[in-house]
Amino acid sequence: MMKLDIQLFAVPFRKVSKTRKRLRRSHNALEVPGMTKCPTCGEMIKPHRVCPKCGSYKGKTEVSKKEAE
Ligand SMILES: [Zn+2]
Repeated sequence: MMKLDIQLFAVPFRKVSKTRKRLRRSHNALEVPGMTKCPTCGEMIKPHRVCPKCGSYKGKTEVSKKEAE
């Protein structure tokens, strides 16, 4: 008996268009933690925290690096 060596798989009815694919993936981006720029030294810092680099908060020097040690 001859048996045809063809297997049928479930195939999507339509190919997902570029636009559909991109629209779906527009929500897949990883979230970037909220970062702001230190007004004193310009370093990227987390908001509402004393800058770890220059020790300033809201433009004022709150924690001096030398005093803290
Ligand atoms: Zn700073």
